[in-house]
Formats: sequence, structure tokens, C-alpha cells
Amino acid sequence: MIDKKVFVVAIDGPSASGKSSVSRELARRHGWVWVSTGAFYRGLAVVARELGVATSDVAKLSALADDERWQVVLADDRTRVLLDGKDVTDQVYREDIGNAASTISQIPAVRSRLLEGQRRCAKGVAGLVAEGRDCGTVVFPDAPVKIYLTAHSEHRFERRAREEGRSVEETRAAQTQRDLQDSTRASAPLQVAPGAVVIDTSHLDLPGVVNKVDDLVKAALASWKN
Ligand code: C5P
Repeated sequence: MIDKKVFVVAIDGPSASGKSSVSRELARRHGWVWVSTGAFYRGLAVVARELGVATSDVAKLSALADDERWQVVLADDRTRVLLDGKDVTDQVYREDIGNAASTISQIPAVRSRLLEGQRRCAKGVAGLVAEGRDCGTVVFPDAPVKIYLTAHSEHRFERRAREEGRSVEETRAAQTQRDLQDSTRASAPLQVAPGAVVIDTSHLDLPGVVNKVDDLVKAALASWKN
């Protein structure tokens, strides 16, 4: 069930378009919580790897998606993942885990089992900023603000390479494959949600992007009835 009393900002876009940084800052400005929904797919990929489950094993992955041994935990800095009570967040955000997450996120049964946990993030909070690939299309289709962040691919590769201390060539190869997979899959592909505002971040700094999103948020808050 989606809690319609909670103000949700849904932010989608390809990898390294700035979704997490924008979400974190927007949530901070409003005293809201934020969630990287990718952490659910990444978390499952880490758990599968730890337990020796292949990314092609649909039955085991679907069962693991609901397994209580692991949880996604919201935090101000980044969305965290616990496995057997141990914080495995450092593994979660590695690029190889991003690629494994992209592979398993194609499985419809995995997506539907992870959906409930993502929606639960909007329970009992004043506001939620949710970022990912299908936040505005599937997870929170009634969100009063929907944003699609994008940037020229070379800007995105450079940004991610800088963050990870890798070469632009390596990053380009990994992300091109992942973005193609995410936008062409049959189940909940990355796309601009109906009613979403597209923001190209190529020539904007972080405060510039957040200000643009925040203007839309403030306008929506003024007319929002809960
Ligand atoms: O956003 P992030 O890079 O953490 O996401 C990792 C992967 O998880 C994406 O490449 C995508 O395949 C998957 N994902 C998804 N739906 C979401 C968020 C992430 O399929 N809402």
C-alpha cells in the first residue's frame, strides 16, 4: 500500500546522473528521508554473492529477495544494507555489484518482491525523496513531484570515474552496458514517467540542480493536500 499522506519526490535517471547527491541534499533541506531504491537491488546482489547464489538462479533470487537475514536501512549519508546484522554497505556500492544488480533487476519476481520494501520507506515519515529507475513509473506513480535527471553520457562517465578513482574508459564500458540493460529490459525499464520534469545536469553544479528541483517541490507543496 502506498501512503498518500506522505509527500514523495520521485527521481529517476541513468547511472551517474546525480540522483543520490540531489536526493540527499533535497531531503536535508526539507528534513525528509531519502532512499536509493538501487540499494535494494544492490543489497540482493551482495547477499546472493555471499551465499553463493548465481545471478541467473531466478527461484533462489526471488526467495532471497524476501529473506529476513538482510535489510535496507535509511540513513542521511547513503542508503545502507545489513546482512545478518552486519553493515555491508561498503560492498553494496561497488561497480561490480552495480552490474550484478542490473542483471538481477531484470527478473520480474525479484522486482515485485522488492517493491513492498521500497514503498514501506514512505511509512511514518513527513516526506520522502526516492531515487532509482522506476520510482515515478512503478514505485510511487502518484508522487506529486517526478523528476527525470539526465546528463550527456561523457559527463556521467567522467563524474563516476572521478568518484571511483577509475579510468573514464573503464567506466564508459561498464555504464554503457548497464544503462542499455536498464532501459531496454521488459520489466519496469528506465523511462521518463508521465508528468515528470526532465532536467539535464550536464552544465549545472549540484546546488544548481537541487535549486531547480526544489523550486518544483515548493510549488507542488503549496498546492498539495494531504
Ligand atoms: O541506482 P543504482 O546504480 O544504485 O542501481 C543499481 C541497479 O539497480 C541499476 O543499474 C538498475 O538495474 C537497478 N535498479 C532498478 N530499479 C530501481 C533502482 C535500481 O532496476 N528503481
